[in-house]
Order: sequence, then C-alpha cells, then structure tokens
Amino acid sequence: MNQLVFATNNANKVREIRAQLEDSYQFLSLADIGCHEDIPETAPTFEGNARLKSRHVYEGYGHDCFSEDTGLEVRALDWAPGVITARYAGPKRSAEDNMTKLLNALDGQKDRYARFHTVICLILGGQEHYFTGICPGSITLERAGDGGFGYDPIFIPEGETRTFAQMSDKEKLTFSHRAKAMTKLIEFLRENQ
Ligand code: IMP
Repeated sequence: MNQLVFATNNANKVREIRAQLEDSYQFLSLADIGCHEDIPETAPTFEGNARLKSRHVYEGYGHDCFSEDTGLEVRALDWAPGVITARYAGPKRSAEDNMTKLLNALDGQKDRYARFHTVICLILGGQEHYFTGICPGSITLERAGDGGFGYDPIFIPEGETRTFAQMSDKEKLTFSHRAKAMTKLIEFLRENQ
C-alpha cells in the first residue's frame, strides 16, 4: 500500500482529514515517522509555508508527503491576518487572544466578509504539486459554539447561520477550505496512482 505523510502536528487537522482519506493510502502522521520537530513556517505566502513543511519531511525523512498552510483573510482589514493568522495576537498562538483581537479590530465594522484559504503542497517522487481550497463566509459579532478549533467560534460559512464551532466535524467538511483542497489532492492521487 502507498504511504503518505501528512506533515502537521495539529491533531485537529489530522482528525478532520482522516475522515476524508481513502483506504488505498496508508496515512502517516509526523509522530509515526519519528519527526517531533517544530518545522519553521517563515515564508511570506501560504504556498511558501506549505512547501517548507513538505520539503523538510521529504528531504529529512525520505517520505512522500503533503502539508498545508491555512489563513483567515478579512476584507475590511485589507485581507489580514492572512499568513500570520496563527500569530495574529502574538507568538503564543492563542486562539482566544486571536479571536478577541479580530472581534475588536472589526468593532463597528459592517463589512464582515472573510474567507479561509488553504494551500496544500504535495511532494510525490520529488515533484511538487499544489492544491487550493477557499471557504467564503463572515465574522460574527461574538463567539458561538464550542466545537472545532482556532477561529471556528467566530466564523460562519456562506449559506449557513451557524459558526463552524456549532457544527459536527462532518458538517464542517461540507464547507471547509481544507476539505476542498483535500478533495483536489485525493482526485490527483487517484489519477496518478
Ligand atoms: P496553520 O495553518 O496551522 O498555521 O493555522 C493558521 C491559523 O489558522 C491558526 O490560528 C489556526 O487555528 C487557524 N485555522 C486553520 N484552520 C482553521 C479552521 O478550519 N478553523 C478555524 N481556524 C483555523
């Protein structure tokens, strides 16, 4: 069976993506290959950060792999926080602090449009392939729900009235940026097996 490493330490992302992966691939986490490093994400773009993580695993451990980088882009903030979404409120990467900062930045703002943006970088036999997923939606006035992670309690995907944090993992998958990018990755793997 083909093996593919998902280069992330984020257990939430692993949990979400396991629900989507096919039986024809054995899916390994960073822990499974003995990689316990904090891989730097210092590039100025989502593509660049996804590439850094995948290259690190491919070159250091010799595994075909994919990684993803995600950010939240808010129109009224000139598409910030973007590539610094995780560290928006500082290096602690606190989801609570990040949400508080974002709600404060949008205080009194009528335009609440925002989108999650994911880029996956797959390295297969040394070749790089990129897949993108976007989830349009809006930022709420206050937190709602206790599921999910990150900014989920303050993000409502387009066509819904509930935040991601008010949905089950399965419901979130029908909208999610990461699931859209993953679907493209899975189609590519199927065609190139
Ligand atoms: P990274 O891609 O793991 O660096 O995540 C960037 C930032 O986006 C972190 O603050 C995450 O919590 C947040 N984030 C990524 N995906 C999601 C999501 O599906 N829902 C809410 N927040 C997310």
